[in-house]
Amino acid sequence: MAEQTTGEKVLRGIGASPGICIGKAYLVDTEGVDIVGKFFIPKENLEKEVKRFKRAVQHVIDEMETIIAERPTELKDKAEILEAHSQLLKDKRLYDKTIATIESEAINAEWALNKVTTALRRMFKNMNDDYLRARADDIAQVSERILRRLAGAETVNIATIDKRVVLVAHDLSPAETSQIHLERIKGFITDRGGRASHTSIIARTLEIPAVTGLGNASKIIRQDDLLIVDGNTGTVIVQPSEQTLMEFEEKKMGYERYRSAITKYCHLPARTKDGHELKIMGNIELPEEVVPVIDNGGDGIGLYRTEFQYMAKGRFPTEEELFDRYRDVVEVMHPRPVTFRTLDINGDKTVRQIVESGEPNPALGLRAIRYCLKNPSVFQPQLRAILRASAFGNVRILLPMISSCQEILQARAAIKEAVDALQAEGIRSADNVEIGIMIEVPAAVVMADVMAKMVDFFSIGTNDLIQYTLAIDRDNKDVAHLYHPLQPAILRMLKRTAEAAKDNGIKVFMCGEMAGNPLHAPILLGLGLDELSMNPQSIPAVKNMIRSLDTHDAENVLDEVLQHTSVEAALKLLRQRYGDLVAAMLYDQ
Ligand code: PEP
Ligand code: MG
Repeated sequence: MAEQTTGEKVLRGIGASPGICIGKAYLVDTEGVDIVGKFFIPKENLEKEVKRFKRAVQHVIDEMETIIAERPTELKDKAEILEAHSQLLKDKRLYDKTIATIESEAINAEWALNKVTTALRRMFKNMNDDYLRARADDIAQVSERILRRLAGAETVNIATIDKRVVLVAHDLSPAETSQIHLERIKGFITDRGGRASHTSIIARTLEIPAVTGLGNASKIIRQDDLLIVDGNTGTVIVQPSEQTLMEFEEKKMGYERYRSAITKYCHLPARTKDGHELKIMGNIELPEEVVPVIDNGGDGIGLYRTEFQYMAKGRFPTEEELFDRYRDVVEVMHPRPVTFRTLDINGDKTVRQIVESGEPNPALGLRAIRYCLKNPSVFQPQLRAILRASAFGNVRILLPMISSCQEILQARAAIKEAVDALQAEGIRSADNVEIGIMIEVPAAVVMADVMAKMVDFFSIGTNDLIQYTLAIDRDNKDVAHLYHPLQPAILRMLKRTAEAAKDNGIKVFMCGEMAGNPLHAPILLGLGLDELSMNPQSIPAVKNMIRSLDTHDAENVLDEVLQHTSVEAALKLLRQRYGDLVAAMLYDQ
């Protein structure tokens, strides 16, 4: 939605990662290009139009040459397609013909190119020779690159992205995110995505302001437009006026003051007024993120999403590579615990280069533990790497997407196989590694009383639990308004899980995004959770909140909230009681 004010445009989306940044737009095109319609060019401007076309082609040629030159050695011999594309760019039938069409028909470059490539593709498609027929696809790809350039959008070129820009994209998959290196940019905005999408989660970890679910921002915003991104309220302002700029500079400073005030006490324990201590842990995606966890006062790693290390590569990492990184994390955090969640790929975290995708319903497909149990050649190296790292500190194993007791038995057998093999090889590992499961599928909540007897701890993953319980795609902006952890159905599931854990004497943690909102802390304390794990930058605010709570009061608040039947009523109650303790601009949602 766009509102017009004094020449500036205000776009509203979902505040995916807090903070405010101001910078120039850097458009990356992660989807196909819309073809610009046909229009006539006045005779006197035809030469300029031809030049525009030539410049676009030259730019694409340079870009392709760079890509070919920078290919890793192991992929060098796979460059023929790129080289063929590079040659096609200057092919007479494409290049000269497009120029001739611009001149003879006095039309824009996009339309001329479209006309020429359509005819060329038709010609190649009708050929008998397989090789020549395949050239039709090459022509389509080459023409798309030129069109993209004519539209002013860049293909993602990591090397040219620097700290000054705000990334604008239609969508960013976790795989793309892992290549773009978000830490190199000021902020980002996307047309798609919700608060719980993985790209948003990474942005929060890296403390980069982000707004998602904007609908058509990537169409409205032009390259180099000045943008204000307010991740606290989910607002983006395009080409702001002087006055708006000043207003947001102030807001930005206010937010930075708030952050520094709140982090002042972050290294104190999260102990309630009546002396009950909760452990407040950090979620990480990459080993480097242990630094923000420690800086923000985290008591350990409650969730290490190990899949991101698999996404950046075109192959599965080796046991040795994994062990190397895991050991670093474990040693840096020692004696604090590090909870390794085993590979949770597929679903929304597709490792495109490796796993054949194309599942009709990936969220319900061969993901996480299901994939690992089916592929021991992928699972065993990871388990071995984790177990080897356990010799250097305090390690736990967390199994994702558990939906049946059989899966727990099979996963435990796989872990035992890794332990036995290491022992037989004389390789050290700790003998007290705790094994826990994610509670993120409704079936696990229903079976929690039985499953609690089979594992050492539960960790509740509200991101998926909400998705699967309420049948809401966590990445879909159109249903994002229904996605809320205070839905009565979710609160009841949390209660059931916590009780099953307590009744069986095992610990219960939460590592979904719900844990990082200080307004929810009274409920989580009332449930008796032992640990909360969250985005590192949420740790100080949650610790602050817990220090102002009393366990008995929290239990009463939980009982009251459970009597309500709507999110609004629950929110109202929490705001009334605790609203003045949280920065409303951040967490009141
Ligand atoms: C969850 O589902 O709540 C969770 C923590 O896992 P992820 O967000 O990685 O799916
Ligand atoms: Mg999950």
